[in-house]
Amino acid sequence: MDAPDDPAAVLADLGERIAACTRCPRLVSWRREVAGHPPPRFAGERYWARPVPGFGDPAARVYVLGLATAAHGGNRTGRAFTGNPTGDWVVRALHRAGLADRPTSEHADDGLRLDGAWTGSAVRCAPPGNRPTPLERDTCLGFLSEEVRALTRLRVLLVLGGFAWDAATRWAGVRPRPRFGHGVEHRLDAGPTLLGCYHPSRQNTNTGVLTEAMLDAVVARAVELARP
Ligand code: SF4
Repeated sequence: MDAPDDPAAVLADLGERIAACTRCPRLVSWRREVAGHPPPRFAGERYWARPVPGFGDPAARVYVLGLATAAHGGNRTGRAFTGNPTGDWVVRALHRAGLADRPTSEHADDGLRLDGAWTGSAVRCAPPGNRPTPLERDTCLGFLSEEVRALTRLRVLLVLGGFAWDAATRWAGVRPRPRFGHGVEHRLDAGPTLLGCYHPSRQNTNTGVLTEAMLDAVVARAVELARP
């Protein structure tokens, strides 16, 4: 039987509670709406259509935090950063840094294992237009708190994009809130170091705002900060 404070058991319980959450009516409707009208490339697939729990190594020292669940990524596959181009970028970078056992993240049963890393989103449901409201952001922040408490070895929160940075700094209660920037670091008094990174959205990766070399450099810095 697992010890009461075993991170894997705590995170598994938390994951079940996240997946059952219905606190944001607009997002409950949207995640189902998206599932009922998939694009042709996913026609016939059974979508997860629920909130997506965090995924990774319960002994993680680095947590990669995204904006929100992707409509046809996590909302389809049921796993964070899985089945969409942003997930491809993140997992390839984690693999190059030795934090993932393979460079791909295609579906929840593909066997992907993260080693020393955890992944999740500030908002666990897919929002319309990829834009959660401030109320939805704040309603979901309690899950981030619980995850960070359970990840007892966590040292770095690698935050993808300004929205997730805003969520992370609100969660941390930092005053004044540090401005988001690529490579910006903010050490919390009692908690992980926040490390900013441009979001690997198509808009950023297709235009060269974020390159793989830039992402690799930030992940390498996260690994460096996370060393015991
Ligand atoms: S966004 Fe978060 S709080 Fe809102 S319904 Fe989804 S899991 Fe629940």
